[in-house]
Parts: sequence; C-alpha cells; structure tokens
Amino acid sequence: MESLNMATTLIVNIGEFFTGDLKEPVGDVTSVRIDGDRITALNPPADTVRDRTIDAHGSAVMPGVIDGHVHPVFGEWTPTQNTIGWIGNYVHGGTTSMVSAGELHVPGLDYNNLTPELMTSLALLAKATTGRVRWGGAKVHAGTLLMVPGMTEEKFDKVSAAGTILTKFLFYPLAPENREEALRYVGWCHDRGLRVKVHTGGVSRSGSNAVCGYETLSWLQPDIAAHISGGPIPMPDDDLDALVDHTEFALEICSSGNYRSAIRAVERLAKAGRLDRLTLGTDTPGGTGVLARGMLRNMTFLSSVCGLSAGEVIAVATGNTAKAHGLDTGMLKPGMPADLVIAGRIDGSAGTTLTEAIEHGDLPGISTVMIDGQLVVSGRSEQTPPPQERATIELTYGCPFCA
Ligand SMILES: [Zn+2]
Repeated sequence: MESLNMATTLIVNIGEFFTGDLKEPVGDVTSVRIDGDRITALNPPADTVRDRTIDAHGSAVMPGVIDGHVHPVFGEWTPTQNTIGWIGNYVHGGTTSMVSAGELHVPGLDYNNLTPELMTSLALLAKATTGRVRWGGAKVHAGTLLMVPGMTEEKFDKVSAAGTILTKFLFYPLAPENREEALRYVGWCHDRGLRVKVHTGGVSRSGSNAVCGYETLSWLQPDIAAHISGGPIPMPDDDLDALVDHTEFALEICSSGNYRSAIRAVERLAKAGRLDRLTLGTDTPGGTGVLARGMLRNMTFLSSVCGLSAGEVIAVATGNTAKAHGLDTGMLKPGMPADLVIAGRIDGSAGTTLTEAIEHGDLPGISTVMIDGQLVVSGRSEQTPPPQERATIELTYGCPFCA
C-alpha cells in the first residue's frame, strides 16, 4: 500500500482498453489520467504533469471485476471451509468490489428459527464489522438483509440507515399466502433505494429455502434474480426460457451453478440482444468454497463457450454488475473511481492479445490492481500466472520504495 492519496497518476502504453460499458466495450485509449481516487481523463496530453507513471507495456486495462454474489461471514474468515484470507486473494484475482448475498454462514445459525430481530441484527453486525474495513483493499458491500416473515418497516429503516444496499429473499416462504407481505417488503426496499435479490432454483446448502422459478419471479419482480443457472440447483429449462423472454430485471450467473443451464441462459439473452440484463458472481465462499479466480473463470467460460466477445464479457462482469447493484464503479471513464486491473496474455496462451486469450478460454495474467487510485496489487498477482508483459511503476519525485 502507498500514501499518494491525492497524487496524479498516468497510465501509459495501454495496448487494449476495456470500458466496462456494454454499449461500447472496447475503446481506442492508450493512456489514462487519475487524480486521487478518480479517473479524470482518457488519452490526456503526453506532457501531463504527474507524480507517478504506470507503464502498461502494451498490456490491457479493464475495470476492476465486480463479484455480485459473495457470502462473507466475519471479515476474511469463511467458517464453512475454515479458511482465512479469502477477500485479499480475490483481489489478486482482479475483483475490486463484491456484494454480499447474505451472511448466512454464521456458525450455529438455526435456519428454522430466523426471526425479524435476529436477521436485522445479523445484517447490522455484518455491516459494522466485515463491511466496515477494506479487506485487502476491496470494497465489500456487506450487511445484506435476509428477509423473513413478520418484519416491520422499522427494520428496513435500520439497515438502510446503516448503509446496507441489498436485501434478499432466501429463507422467506414465497408462497401465494405470503404474496402481499413479500410485495410490501419490495416496496419498502425501493422506497429506501435498497435493491432486492431473490434466490432462484432448488434448495441451497442451508437446506431450508423453497424452490423458486418463473412463476414466483414474475409476480415478485425483484431487481436481481440470483444465480439463475443454479445455486447450486437451477430452475427447469422452461422456467429459465420464460424468465429470459418475459421479464426485464437483472439475471445473475454464478460459479455455483449448472454449466449447461448457464450456456442456455446466456445464449438466449445474447440472441435476444439483452446481454444488458446479465450480471456475474461466484456465490462463494459458502458451500461452493473459495474460488480466488472464480470471476475470471466465469468470464472466460462465458466468452469461450457461450460466445460473448472479450469486451462484452468484461462489461458484464464490471459495468453491468455494478449497475444492477447500484454501485458507483465498474466503468473506466472520467468521474468514475480508479478501480482497475492491468492484465495481459500469459505466456503459452492462445492468440497474441488478451482479447484472443479470453475468447479462447485462457485465464488473464494480472500484474496490477488499483482501487480508488491506490495500488493494491503491483508487480504481479499471487493468484494468476504473470502476464507476458508486466506493468512497471515510476515516480516522478520521491522514493521508489514508496510505490
Ligand atoms: Zn448465495
């Protein structure tokens, strides 16, 4: 970590530039100016006065990856696998922001006795602890409210005041007799700017949620249908097709699911010209374990197997996922936070560029990860092989050891 809080940084010699914007995923950009924590110019004048120069040596720059579905518990400890340090490792896999889909893996939590008070307390505790600290530099949006029957509007006030951004129907019995209350919850969330996510498909690791498919989602109208290809069990194919064809909200694909269902959903969305609805996550840790390169694996899968271009899949994993969750990040343009990854083709990969490697299904090699203008990974990632060309950092003034 470094202390150039308000410094001007210029990234130069960019070979490929991915915007994170699905409408125009690749840009003709060879340099980026960053002032403090924000991007202030693309292709600034070459003689721009700066404190620091990052030479990309022809490698690619893309927005920091956003994992739209993680399950933190206590900081970087994931009790399900009894491992530690997962968030920092995810940052080395290019993930700069992550959104909790609920802190349900707390040891000893009794899924058969989840009261409104307990679930609200759990969200507040997670927000005040895991969600308070930048673990490994990452922006972790924790404190997701897992809704249960009998909640009053005051509970939504409390989590909203604490800074929660997401609520989720997971344990909630989405049966016809509860429809009125569930829709009231959705209204209360939207009144406060909280996004609503719903567990879809079969029963989760907890073993205590109901099956959720097209019928429920069509009346509930959440903001995001979680892991539509399974988390871990997908909804039936007909439901998946109807979801793509007859709804408008965001549809999430996670590593936890069924690959065949993922191909079906992604190909159908692409054919309909609706990739703007697609978001990505890992649904890890939890039952699926820790996947430090999980987001990169999802991206190479969607590109090499489901046919998305490298630019499209990067936009899905960054701009799309940020937008669906209301995050102020995910695109590289002036005014946006400097959350970015410098990566390249790994020696031995297919093709000659990162685009060609990703479209062949090959993992990118990461050399640099920046969050809010701060270098959190430099030199090389501990989680990917090094890229052929590594970005180097040069200070205009001062001590090279501070970089
Ligand atoms: Zn989940």
